[in-house]
Amino acid sequence: TCGICVEKCPFDAIEIINLPAELEAEPTHRYGDNAFALYGLPTPEPGKVTGILGPNGIGKSTAVHALAGEMVPNLGEYEGETDWEAVLDRYRGTELQNYLEGLIDGDIAVARKPQYVDQIPKQFDGKVRELLEQTDERGELDYLVDELSIRPVMDQRIDSISGGELQRVALAATLARDVDFYFLDEITPYLDISQRMTAARLIQELAEEGDRSMLVVEHDLAILDLLADTLHITYGEPGAYGVVTDPKSVRNGINEYLGGYLDNENMRIRPESITFEEHAPRTSSKGQPLVEYPDLHKSYGEGEFSLDVEGGTIYESEVLGVVGPNGIGKSTLAKLFTGALSPDEGELDTELDIAYKPQYIEIDQPMRVDAFLSSITDDFGSSYWNTEIAQPLQLERIMEQNLDDLSGGERQRVAIAACLSEDADLYLLDEPSAHLDVEQRVQATSAIRRYTENHDATAMVIDHDIYMIDLLSDRLMVFDGEPAHHGTARPPQEMRAGMNDFLADLDITFRRDERTGRPRINKPGSQKDREQQRAGEYYYSG
Ligand code: ADP
Ligand code: ADP
Ligand code: MG
Repeated sequence: TCGICVEKCPFDAIEIINLPAELEAEPTHRYGDNAFALYGLPTPEPGKVTGILGPNGIGKSTAVHALAGEMVPNLGEYEGETDWEAVLDRYRGTELQNYLEGLIDGDIAVARKPQYVDQIPKQFDGKVRELLEQTDERGELDYLVDELSIRPVMDQRIDSISGGELQRVALAATLARDVDFYFLDEITPYLDISQRMTAARLIQELAEEGDRSMLVVEHDLAILDLLADTLHITYGEPGAYGVVTDPKSVRNGINEYLGGYLDNENMRIRPESITFEEHAPRTSSKGQPLVEYPDLHKSYGEGEFSLDVEGGTIYESEVLGVVGPNGIGKSTLAKLFTGALSPDEGELDTELDIAYKPQYIEIDQPMRVDAFLSSITDDFGSSYWNTEIAQPLQLERIMEQNLDDLSGGERQRVAIAACLSEDADLYLLDEPSAHLDVEQRVQATSAIRRYTENHDATAMVIDHDIYMIDLLSDRLMVFDGEPAHHGTARPPQEMRAGMNDFLADLDITFRRDERTGRPRINKPGSQKDREQQRAGEYYYSG
């Protein structure tokens, strides 16, 4: 090891990793001898949204405890006593000085939206209305309830609503509070793109109009880019140490992050860079048709949701991205393909061998991860399997754990690995980005892409993370309709036409970052947005 990591170098590239200069200085906080250390702190600012971009386990909650005044950072002196004056001395002359002075002068009240909304029903027993009414400190609850479309579930019990509804209830409950400092630990899980945009707008409104400090951790880069005013990148070794950079402009911060190199810090955080194609990929020479499916119809019953599938062709060796709002029938289509559901009209070729990663992963056996994965493939443990699957999905460290002890993100990575380890004609992945942090998304994306390329495999990937869809897909399947009532699955199309159809439905356009070609969401109603809508150029340029 290079001396900073407790385990193996996470990049397998020790020679190109510089030692961060911060590590020679004292940390902001260290929990104890050989325990986790945090270097630096994010800078909340009234009227601004401060973004944090980086992996989990890197000290974000630790930083928020400090910024909320709940813990005095010990500046590395974990055996002695520290006080705020010493902390202020350390940060005098930095962007954090003002905030710390405010914190010392008066109490800073903080509201938090927890990362794992699935835990909320375990902590609150009652109806949505009862939970939300306790939080209505600014008299804005009705507005938030309408904007986030939670009116229909107000009288339902908290333990009966879906993940996406829980996320929106948690957002409303946090933003309804009257505090100085709001900490939102991920806003997008379970939400579709327009719900993500709404959440981002409400957070910006509260910052600007309410003059509050907002600190947001987010792993969907397109949304983070739209939402934040400034950005801190965090890097390090999860569980061992974390470094919070000085604030960067959001544009540069995300560009540097994707490029794998932090300019000011002179720090390489990833061996390879991630690049986007500015123009839609040329029609790739298609393989043979893998499956030609006819028009299909499926209804869950009289007056319930129904899905119409327009017939189409999936080709060998392609990755088909699948996009559409929540509740429009994407998972229903996946279940029709796997045979878990049968269509009411139309017939599907059932000869296909399908490896399926469902949206909601239920692997609760009391079995170890290594035993589970080796029961799926004989390649388990081979050098090819390690390089292509275990390493990019960061499985080494959880191999000996039991499946039923895994966190959401760990479970997701095991499920993706299990799916790709099967020998199949079609790999069908339903929302692989859920619960993954940004670095894990990047790695999972390249693992899926590399796997399909090296094995001439065909994949269908349903996801709401537009960067992931862009980086993965050769073609796109778009759903439209009226969520929860009726959906239509359009036939697969070229990326350019598909993105235009999908985004026109949402009224969202993307421009391109001048330096890197990275897609960036236009501010709704901005001049660029209106121009591009008029020209019908929603995503790719030229
Ligand atoms: P994040 O919010 O980025 O996921 P946290 O700040 O929660 O990270 O935790 C960072 C690291 O600090 C983790 O490895 C965690 O185990 C460790 N840690 C958190 N609280 C304590 C504590 N009270 N004592 C020792 N270690 C802790
Ligand atoms: P998506 O994956 O696009 O979010 P789904 O296919 O999961 O959408 O669901 C589409 C609609 O069908 C939703 O309104 C959902 O509540 C409903 N639905 C899903 N499964 C069932 C079922 N077994 N019985 C009745 N309605 C269902
Ligand atoms: Mg779904």
